[in-house]
Amino acid sequence: MTTRQRAAGHVAGGPPPPAAEGGRHLLLVVADGIRPELLAAEIDAERVPALAALRARGGLYPVSTVFPSVTGPAYVPFLMGRHPAPVGLPGLRWYDRARTLRWSPAQARSYAGIDIWHVDRDVHAEPPTLLELAQPSLAGMSMLARGATHGRVGRSLYWMLRAAPSHFRGDLAGWRRVEQAATRAFFRRFARARPRSAVLALTIGDKRAHAEGPFGDGVREAVADVDAAVATARGIAEAGGWGDRLHVWVVADHGHAPVAHHDDLHGWLDGAGWRVLAHPQLSVRNPDVALMVGGNAMAQLYLHPSMRSRSWWPALGARAGRLLDGVLQRPSVELAMVAPDARTVRVTHAGRGTAEVVRHGEGRTARWDYLVRDGDPLGLGGTLRGLTPCTAWEACAATEFPDAVVQLSLLASAPRTGDVIVSAREGWDLRARFEPVTHVSTHGALRREQMLVPLLVDVPVARAPQRTADVAASACALLGVGAGVPFDGRSFVDGGGMAPA
Ligand SMILES: [Zn+2]
Repeated sequence: MTTRQRAAGHVAGGPPPPAAEGGRHLLLVVADGIRPELLAAEIDAERVPALAALRARGGLYPVSTVFPSVTGPAYVPFLMGRHPAPVGLPGLRWYDRARTLRWSPAQARSYAGIDIWHVDRDVHAEPPTLLELAQPSLAGMSMLARGATHGRVGRSLYWMLRAAPSHFRGDLAGWRRVEQAATRAFFRRFARARPRSAVLALTIGDKRAHAEGPFGDGVREAVADVDAAVATARGIAEAGGWGDRLHVWVVADHGHAPVAHHDDLHGWLDGAGWRVLAHPQLSVRNPDVALMVGGNAMAQLYLHPSMRSRSWWPALGARAGRLLDGVLQRPSVELAMVAPDARTVRVTHAGRGTAEVVRHGEGRTARWDYLVRDGDPLGLGGTLRGLTPCTAWEACAATEFPDAVVQLSLLASAPRTGDVIVSAREGWDLRARFEPVTHVSTHGALRREQMLVPLLVDVPVARAPQRTADVAASACALLGVGAGVPFDGRSFVDGGGMAPA
């Protein structure tokens, strides 16, 4: 029996399992790129009544997303309850050393383009999605939609072709019109299917934020679009007599932070004599390095791309060491990470020295040590040992780098991750070349403004939500599905079935 088959049973402990008929329903709305402060301000200003009603019934919490803080990987925690890199999605762009992917030009993925259609298969098959666990299910514009029994509105060739002209012209009003049409199509299907679980992603907020900054008027308008979607869902359920059983939660996949400087890592590597494989230039013979920038404020460098499996840092040679030293001297770079072995990541801050994060065990029983070597790059105040998933989050909560210990550890050691991982300094990102749309705001980095996202729920919580990975576990507890699924996150609806650490 697979995890997924086991999970279709009922929950032991937690809220009573609802019957298939008359049970609870959950719509998860993804407010792409919306900062928690903005959502709170719009509710406080009484501009978004449907969102205000959700907050009044439950609450609005800032929680941390994953590193890299970017669309694609950042959908994995709230739809699967897992950290993305260990289940196969290390970045928006990544290099497939193992040559396991079909339809992969130069073994390089970019979910910023048509590779978006591969996300469901690139992520590992065994961990179930919320859409597989609670059916019937429906997706709208979601990056990840595996298992949606009533399909995925807005991701077909038809919708791609409708959206393409606006995308390539940078016509955001046009993009919004297409998104609103897709949202109407989603809700027509939502009314017919009455899905137990549904996810609707609204992406215009992210596009507006890139163009005008995270708090621009267009981003506020995008929050109003989220409000309208929530009101529509509630109206449909109430008219259909299932309003008392529909829950609506809102989450975002990443934050946003102003950017004024765009480094050209590609050009710098070229100038230093490296043969660089990077999007969109994928026809490079015998590259020395694959450069995968994603979210634009984060980059991964894959050394020796011809090798089909990872080597740990000490085996990569002196040229790799010089590359790391050079990266740390870029004005754009704040943190650089390498993995000396499968459970250790060495993290260096460009001004504050080096520490190591060591992981013991896996999943929710994992423990972490933060070992200061010649500095305190993550600003945790010194060496810390035996951190649990919960206390590791708490140790980083007030710092510039939320959840850094767990995020770095799980990203750096994954098989599909690059050998050098870079997080950009405040005000910088890393892809000056080949970026078609000029932008004044960015994300992808481990920095606070980019890592913190809003979580709006319409139920009281048993404990404060910490990570977006908690959302899937909580949704399953609410819906009475998912027993036995090994989530990384922990339910805030019923306390997570685990004593506080
Ligand atoms: Zn974006």
